[in-house]
Amino acid sequence: MDRDKLIQQLENDPEIWDFIVIGGGATGLGTAVEAASRGYKTLLLEQHDFAKGTSSRSTKLVHGGVRYLRQGNVALVLEALRERGLLRQNAPHLVKNQSFIVPNYDWWEGPFYGIGLKIYDKLAGDLGLGPSKNLSKEETLEYIPTLEPDDLNGGVIYYDAQFDDSRLAINLLQTLFDQDGIGLNYMKVTGLLKADGFISGVKVEDQEGDHDLEIQGRVVINATGIFADNIRQMDNEKNKSLIQPSQGVHIVLDKSFQPGESAIMVPKTDDGRVLFAVPWHDRIIVGTTDTPLDEPSLEPRATEEEINFLLTHAARYLTKDPEPEDVLSVFAGIRPLVSPGGDDDTSSISRDHTLLIDPSGLVTITGGKWTTYRKMAEETVDEAAVVGGLDERESVTENLRLHGWLKNTEAADPYELYGSDALHLKKIASEHKEWGQPLHPNLPYTPAEVIWAARSEMARTVEDVLARRTRALLLDARASIEMAKPVADLLADELGRDEQWKQDQVTQYTELAKEYLLTS
Ligand SMILES: Cc1cc2nc3c(=O)[nH]c(=O)nc-3n(C[C@H](O)[C@H](O)[C@H](O)COP(=O)(O)OP(=O)(O)OC[C@H]3O[C@@H](n4cnc5c(N)ncnc54)[C@H](O)[C@@H]3O)c2cc1C
Repeated sequence: MDRDKLIQQLENDPEIWDFIVIGGGATGLGTAVEAASRGYKTLLLEQHDFAKGTSSRSTKLVHGGVRYLRQGNVALVLEALRERGLLRQNAPHLVKNQSFIVPNYDWWEGPFYGIGLKIYDKLAGDLGLGPSKNLSKEETLEYIPTLEPDDLNGGVIYYDAQFDDSRLAINLLQTLFDQDGIGLNYMKVTGLLKADGFISGVKVEDQEGDHDLEIQGRVVINATGIFADNIRQMDNEKNKSLIQPSQGVHIVLDKSFQPGESAIMVPKTDDGRVLFAVPWHDRIIVGTTDTPLDEPSLEPRATEEEINFLLTHAARYLTKDPEPEDVLSVFAGIRPLVSPGGDDDTSSISRDHTLLIDPSGLVTITGGKWTTYRKMAEETVDEAAVVGGLDERESVTENLRLHGWLKNTEAADPYELYGSDALHLKKIASEHKEWGQPLHPNLPYTPAEVIWAARSEMARTVEDVLARRTRALLLDARASIEMAKPVADLLADELGRDEQWKQDQVTQYTELAKEYLLTS
């Protein structure tokens, strides 16, 4: 995956792409894989790094959405449960079963949630991950020994799945290449090309150099999440805004706050929110919030109110109360909610996600969940093929194994998350005595991963490596700052960068990572 060579190829050998996808999050990567796997010539362009936006900032659940069941949205739950099962089959190295405990403090909660979760099991059918069950107080505390025992009546256990969001994004990128497509990061779409009023391509600015390109395509997909309005307004400045950004924040704690393998799910906090505390890479993620924002941002920041909410509620359900200095990292993501008063000139299929086709032929896909990215992509490519005048082809992604597919991974393997690529990482690690050793005592990541990320996962910066190829920034922001220098050295060797670049990278990364800490 040589980014520089790929850009040269685009410059020297201009061709007309069948699909140009703007946006390298779950939706764009999924759509590009969907198109390429049907044999369409596909190019994806991401303005920053893959999964820099919402797609690296989720709660890390592959789930049907118990919450939607409560809202009576059975069709949506059914679809998500089916997609959960497919993703479990197609990326077993990344998607794992996860048990959840709903603690019951009121007498009615046991029967109420017990019945609801039985319905959830039934909807999952053959793709279910295990039967839900009511638990006594003692059993509940066996699963979560640090759960607040006062007034606890018992609990309900149910099963969903969990994954690593940005690792899945990178595997989708690699799958895109495996299917003869191309994906490029740090390529920002700055304008749309038109012929006779119809979109015929995109203007692109290389964020690393001065390669401004015009690229022709038969159909252009706008998969830019919270930035979808910007692209629609490049098409027609009169297009009304559709997106109402809403922020969700998580805090990360060490496992002493919640030992064991089970997650906690609180269906309704006293102010009506859903709260999760989920084990992830040997830490606990607590989230989330729902705060309307005026503007989209690639680096959203948690508000004091959001952090207080999470700390207070974590303290309410756990015996050990977390303090700001216990927070290893705090990260925020933004949901691209579609406001109902949007543009009414466009045809809209609206469920959890929204697919819009503008009169110019611009196809916008937004909303939804990571869990349902494949189904969203399938619908998008079906519609877009017609818009682009392409021959219609059947989807093959239901059974398409994603890059890295490996059924029986070993939790003890330090490169487990890489699935079938673990072999390559081990080979790199064996080439130098230090390359298999962790770069920091608090985190498992090795130089081999940095080298692999640069060679085979298109990592371009220290942040790409520490935030999304590995998850150091989310797991321990302070430790990740201490890793910045050695990571910059390794990356500079791989990418041919000089001393100044290394210094700039360390400074930029340190500034960014400090924002993920609550105390200095
Ligand atoms: C707090 C929170 C928790 C969540 N938890 C879960 C969960 O547990 N499970 C689940 O299934 N779902 C979850 N979701 C939903 C899920 O994360 C999103 O549905 C999904 O990540 C959206 O992906 P996307 O590709 O549409 O958007 P994004 O990931 O934001 O991708 C859009 C991309 O477009 C790029 N872009 C923008 N403008 C341009 C341009 N001009 N040129 C090129 N590129 C451009 C951006 O840089 C960005 O990378 C959660 C969401 C939030 C906010």
